[in-house]
Amino acid sequence: MPYFIDTHTHLFSEQFKNDIDAVITNAVAQNVKKMILPNIDSASLKNMWDLCEKYPQNCFPTVGLHPCHVKADFEKELQIITDFLKEKEKNPLKICAIGEMGTDLHWDKTFWEQQKIAFKYQVQLAKNHNLPIIIHCRESVKETLEMLSELQDGTLKGVFHCFNGSLDTAKSIMELGGFMMGIGGVATYKKSGLDEVLPHIPAEYLILETDSPYLSPVPHRGKRNESSYIPLIAQKLAEFQGVSTEKMQEITTQNAEKLFGI
Ligand SMILES: [Zn+2]
Repeated sequence: MPYFIDTHTHLFSEQFKNDIDAVITNAVAQNVKKMILPNIDSASLKNMWDLCEKYPQNCFPTVGLHPCHVKADFEKELQIITDFLKEKEKNPLKICAIGEMGTDLHWDKTFWEQQKIAFKYQVQLAKNHNLPIIIHCRESVKETLEMLSELQDGTLKGVFHCFNGSLDTAKSIMELGGFMMGIGGVATYKKSGLDEVLPHIPAEYLILETDSPYLSPVPHRGKRNESSYIPLIAQKLAEFQGVSTEKMQEITTQNAEKLFGI
């Protein structure tokens, strides 16, 4: 049976504390059978891991330090991640990516230099463990692409999560080699501008995500997002790509399984 993958969903967060089991059941009922849980920082590690242990068929762990959580103590945070990866190396539950990592010039620029150090460090971790990276970049795509083109040695792979850039940005991402774009609820928003971009990106570069609990697709915009909404995003993306939703499901699931080895 074909199924969807939500490649970016923070199901371990506070917003799901009271009904997480129902949220996962709903997602599976909507044929969203695999969900990748991008970690945020050391504070979220335990909840993320526990949820993946409880649902090993459905939830897949990652480990990383989110750029908005890069603060004065970032070196300590990076050490925790490094130790966690090592500790779980022989665990039957496999960490499938380094992330959520990246850069952010939207919220707080105080730790920009530290963000770049944390970025390069996590790229090296990904190379050491042969894992893909999950990149958050907000108002910093140019800077991120510059770092990546220096760091790409042919082995690095990953995803630009919550892609909402121009066709030129998409081309730069594709030229890196090994990188995909995560398409989420923003694609369903009228003024996203993605209607000009998504028809022109080859499907082999696209995967689906919700970024739950944020950025709910239409008609749930403004409310809590859930992995069960993935089919709404797939439907919209299929429209842009001029294929059936079934075809979109098949391609994006294949892409995600290949990228994350799940
Ligand atoms: Zn995220």
